Amino acid sequence: RAKERGTGHVEVYAAHMHEMVVARLELQIRLRRALADGEFFLEYQPIVDLGTSQVTAVEALVRWNRDGEVVGPDAFIGAAEESGLIVPLGEWILREACEKVAVWRVSDWDIGLSVNLSVKQVLSPRFVRTVEGVLAETGLSAEVLTLEVDEEVLLEDEGDAVARLGELRELGVRLAIDDYGMGYASLAHLRELSVDSIKIDPSFIADLGRDDTVTLLTHTIIQLGRDLGVQVVAEGIERPEQLEQLRAMGCDHGQGFLVARPMPAEGVDSLAGGEAGPDL
Ligand code: C2E
Ligand code: MG
Ligand code: MG
Ligand code: MG
Repeated sequence: RAKERGTGHVEVYAAHMHEMVVARLELQIRLRRALADGEFFLEYQPIVDLGTSQVTAVEALVRWNRDGEVVGPDAFIGAAEESGLIVPLGEWILREACEKVAVWRVSDWDIGLSVNLSVKQVLSPRFVRTVEGVLAETGLSAEVLTLEVDEEVLLEDEGDAVARLGELRELGVRLAIDDYGMGYASLAHLRELSVDSIKIDPSFIADLGRDDTVTLLTHTIIQLGRDLGVQVVAEGIERPEQLEQLRAMGCDHGQGFLVARPMPAEGVDSLAGGEAGPDL
């Protein structure tokens, strides 16, 4: 009896797994078509200097226009990584964003660009050449571009990611660690790896001023960043008190819905040379 029930469970589980695998494959096929059909687009979220309130850079964030419905990256980046589509998709994202920023910079606006990378891209054999090529094509100087990678890339150093990042760094491109604070990469270690900036995870900023440990940790990260010459960007600023506290702690840069939401390229035009928003 028990054995029969057990087998039944396994069958239900197997059927469920099968459905999930099929759904995943369907998504991967749709994504491939979406890239060919031009259904992806980028939004740009301003990053501001907390000292001057000026917009110093924008972070490119990918979206998918799926039959008129906008789908966010959390719903498809994983599938794109699994199928390998992230490599051509990532190249499209990089080129599209660099083209836009090159145009914004023509009018003497010293704006930087941040682009998110998956470790799969970093490890793909031609990636360094791709970045070099896109910079050459768009005429963007390398130091304008910051590539954001997650902390795990450095911690595990899967298949030589650190060496690849070093080659990118040699092109003159800047490196940022995204979602810092969730893993365990020490700031000193990041400094050794020539990381230019770290982005403090939004979960820290959410609890700022509410949880003493988090507040202390955030303060320590900002302090250490300053001492080591690593720029610190606070992500996920939503409330005025967070902004005040981060400024008081001497945090260099900030990003979040309070500062400005991700916006289409046309929205960025109107920010040229100005402050990000009324809440600053
Ligand atoms: P991320 O790189 O940490 O990007 C920041 C995410 O936080 C964005 O979500 C942004 O819309 C959101 N955000 C910004 N300010 C606030 C705030 O004040 N409050 C809250 N609650 N959220 C805020 P999004 O666009 O959904 O992107 C999610 C993640 O998907 C990104 O996290 C990044 O890891 C990944 N991603 C986005 N675009 C790309 C891309 O072009 N390539 C790759 N490989 N990954 C991407
Ligand atoms: Mg990011
Ligand atoms: Mg990220
Ligand atoms: Mg982040």
